[in-house]
Amino acid sequence: MLTSPVGILGDDKGWVRAIRCLQMELGEPDDSGRRRPVPIEGSEFDIPCHAVIEAIGTRANPLLTQTTPDLKLNKWGYIEIDENGMTSKPGVFAGGDIVRGGATVILAMGDGKTAAAAIDRYLKAK
Ligand SMILES: Cc1cc2nc3c(=O)[nH]c(=O)nc-3n(C[C@H](O)[C@H](O)[C@H](O)COP(=O)(O)OP(=O)(O)OC[C@H]3O[C@@H](n4cnc5c(N)ncnc54)[C@H](O)[C@@H]3O)c2cc1C
Repeated sequence: MLTSPVGILGDDKGWVRAIRCLQMELGEPDDSGRRRPVPIEGSEFDIPCHAVIEAIGTRANPLLTQTTPDLKLNKWGYIEIDENGMTSKPGVFAGGDIVRGGATVILAMGDGKTAAAAIDRYLKAK
């Protein structure tokens, strides 16, 4: 927690040998009330390692969207929905990260509830 990677160190043969990190602390609250992390000067330390796997940023699994070409997607490749969570395919609903991009559990749960109510209305109207 409160650690920021600042560099990947290699040996003289070109192999990775460590990640250099910097310790952070929470600063004063900004206008939004959030305390932003600020670096602690001179707090660099190294974590020895033989491999580095970058796992930052997320994208939707493309399998579903690629195999269902009549699902309308936005410019980022996420599924477009209307205010009820219905996609461009009538009777097919979506929500959560596949619609929003990387978001939060609570937003995905809210989308699920919205879609459940809309599915109920959709089916009863038929
Ligand atoms: C590293 C990381 C940390 C996070 N930390 C937090 C956090 O602290 N708090 C928070 O609120 N959110 C956090 N999130 C975000 C949160 O995990 C997501 O917003 C949330 O899981 C989205 O829920 P979802 O149901 O939309 O998608 P997912 O949870 O991704 O569920 C989609 C499911 O569909 C399945 N699937 C995909 N394709 C197919 C297919 N073709 N057929 C059948 N099944 C399929 C997948 O296997 C998966 O189980 C984090 C995300 C990551 C990656």
